[in-house]
Amino acid sequence: MEYSFSKNVDALTSSAVREILKLTQGSQVISLAGGLPAEEFFPIEAMRDAFNRVFDGGNKSLQYGLTDGYIPLREWIAARMKQKNMNVDLANMILTTGSQQAVDLLCQVYLDEGDVVLVENPTYLAALQLFQFRGIRAVPVEGDAEGMDLDDLAAKVKQYRPKMVYVVPTFANPTGKVWSVERRLGLLRICRENHVLILEDDPYGELQFDLSESYPTLFSLDQHPNGSAVVYTSTFSKTVAPALRTGWAIGDAQVIQTMVRAKQAVDLHSSSIDQMALFQLLNHFDLDAHIATIRAAYQERMQLMDDLLSRQGWTDIKWNKPKGGMFFWMELPEGVKAEEMLVRAVQEGVAFVPGSPFYAEQPKANTLRLNFTHTNRENMILAIDRLSKVIGEFCQSVGQP
Ligand code: PMP
Repeated sequence: MEYSFSKNVDALTSSAVREILKLTQGSQVISLAGGLPAEEFFPIEAMRDAFNRVFDGGNKSLQYGLTDGYIPLREWIAARMKQKNMNVDLANMILTTGSQQAVDLLCQVYLDEGDVVLVENPTYLAALQLFQFRGIRAVPVEGDAEGMDLDDLAAKVKQYRPKMVYVVPTFANPTGKVWSVERRLGLLRICRENHVLILEDDPYGELQFDLSESYPTLFSLDQHPNGSAVVYTSTFSKTVAPALRTGWAIGDAQVIQTMVRAKQAVDLHSSSIDQMALFQLLNHFDLDAHIATIRAAYQERMQLMDDLLSRQGWTDIKWNKPKGGMFFWMELPEGVKAEEMLVRAVQEGVAFVPGSPFYAEQPKANTLRLNFTHTNRENMILAIDRLSKVIGEFCQSVGQP
């Protein structure tokens, strides 16, 4: 048989980095690469009880469900969204197979091949891959620690006439960055004026270390779901467990209902038994206490990683100290190639993700992402020890101390 795949498949390039990282699975290599939550905090017993309660409900629990998702879970999420000043009705919400599917569904119903989406640079790798797969052109907007540069945004809106802007404004992947309220309001204003839809991807917002600061979502700043310039997506992947593959999107009812129609064609609905179990879990379990526990643990791990890196006394290496989320973003001296460094790091027994693939354009080869949430104290000390040795070697090779 001669197979002839669609031309979109050409965009699914295999990456050298992915191949290297595959080699680290199940080995002695300590991985700071994946964006993984810490397994020791997964609520496994509460989840077991939740599934049992679903099964106690009888055979109906194994039946087909609604495309837009299990109603009691949607009601629960709507109530939680309300606490964050996001007032939505059920018609404004769809449950998805992780927030990854929400991004995909919105692209399917809103963007055609050749359309432009504006993005931060760097931004979430799997969103870039999705845009590429669907023939959507991702154009980067300049930015700094506070978010997108609004002048560059306005200029690119004029130049490219994009239909959408994709942003991760709170504890971004990969940079850990948080947008200031001013930039959030500026983005909203520019997009509203030009009828550019904003996709606000917020998987990490709940993982905030210092609760005295407040980062309102773009969706809450826009106030009204219907007619909103924002489609907001979030997930239970980081607060409960990614295996449940349960995320949601909220937005204008017409936009959301169009996504529902697309979802029907794609997969009929996401796993209803997982949604039912999640609802049971949320009703018998203190999610806020659980989030407080993982926040504290993640903050401790973040602080440890920051201390271990600071101890090296490097002068020409920069990294952020994240206020939440899961990642450090590191910039090595000019000339160091993180992809080459990864090969050497894996030999030493530590892995990370080189930064280049996170850029829509003009990749910086001397950047990398480190995950601090998945690795316990003992392994973190070992991992940073190994990494520091390799960083030292590579910095020396480009003439830096
Ligand atoms: N968006 C961003 C920015 C992410 O980092 C992730 C997870 N790595 C996702 C979306 C997808 O999350 P999920 O599909 O598990 O909800």
